[in-house]
Amino acid sequence: MKFATKAIHAGVEPDPSTGAIMTPIYQTTTYAQERVGAHKGFEYSRTANPTRAALETNLAALENAKYGACFASGLAAIDCLLKMLNPGDEVISTNDLYGGSYRLFQGIFAKYGIVFHYTPMQDAAKIEALMNEKTKLIWVETPTNPMMNVIDIEAVAAVVKRGKAILAVDNTFATPCLQRPIDLGADVVMHSVTKYLGGHSDVVMGALVTNDEAIAKEMYRIQNSSGAVCGPQDAFLVLRGVKTLHLRMERHSQNGDRVARWLLEQDAVDKVYYPGLESHPGHEIAKRQMSAFTGMVSFSLKDDTTAAAHDVLNRCKLFSLAESLGGVESLIGHPATMTHASIPADVRRACGITDSLIRLSVGIEDADDLIADLHRAITEP
Ligand SMILES: *Cc1c(COP(=O)(O)O)cnc(C)c1O
Repeated sequence: MKFATKAIHAGVEPDPSTGAIMTPIYQTTTYAQERVGAHKGFEYSRTANPTRAALETNLAALENAKYGACFASGLAAIDCLLKMLNPGDEVISTNDLYGGSYRLFQGIFAKYGIVFHYTPMQDAAKIEALMNEKTKLIWVETPTNPMMNVIDIEAVAAVVKRGKAILAVDNTFATPCLQRPIDLGADVVMHSVTKYLGGHSDVVMGALVTNDEAIAKEMYRIQNSSGAVCGPQDAFLVLRGVKTLHLRMERHSQNGDRVARWLLEQDAVDKVYYPGLESHPGHEIAKRQMSAFTGMVSFSLKDDTTAAAHDVLNRCKLFSLAESLGGVESLIGHPATMTHASIPADVRRACGITDSLIRLSVGIEDADDLIADLHRAITEP
């Protein structure tokens, strides 16, 4: 089956009890058993719930994998993955990554004796230099948030070599519609489902997907043992959101491209970060491993100050000033004081998050209206 068909049908069978075409919201904690041990595959909803199970099957299919697990948030999904490690194990991570992932690594797991190394993975040789027998996890985010750096997943997979360490990719920005890391050699894909997969800014959720049976066993064991599962109502909303993922990503990418090219021509704008631009250093790799370039666009101002950036944010009317991304409506944010404030200032600047850097989540409204809004915000005194 091709992607659009899977988005709509994978994991979603008519309900066996009524024929309902939409997976019902099984708002139940428990399931009556006929005799002790005789049940229909569901015993308790932390362990498994039919609405969540349909979504888990669907998300796994979209990534061309067998096993999926959904969690209460994207960070709860990463938390599950990190709990597969033991004290003393080492992780090599992208240096330019989602601020909350960094906070989870340094603020929570470092104190349990897990050691994190951060390196720019655009050069896969840098990973090789950090690898040793204690390396158990390679954490890749591509495109990165908010610098839109592109990491060559196949090149990283060639360095890591299957079986030596888990290669995990945070595929939140690209979604399986545009990029499928498992096909490129990754072992695990993680999603903040909150973003493009949900797509309507109404659910906080995370997911892990893998094709590796041993990893899957651990994933389900930790999901059930730690219990950070999502509820059935949220699973239903995401099942509905995913049905239009391919249509939304097409429009997000068209609008992202229009906005990025328009920004390039503005006098007040210094740099534009968008992998779809021919001038982007990762453009050739992005063209190879992605089928389009999303609605995420970052840019900096010639007046490189927090005040100048805040002025632009405050003047936008259609772009809502808000954290998060990936919904149908356009959002604008200031990484240094919002999403990435939990990263120390020197670390932040070293990876290019300057004081004037602005991040856009370009929605699926009419691009002319979006550009008019940005024009007003950038050029009005
Ligand atoms: C939002 C986000 C996360 C965290 O997900 P939550 O659902 O907010 O917990 C992780 N990675 C990336 C790239 C994100 O954008």
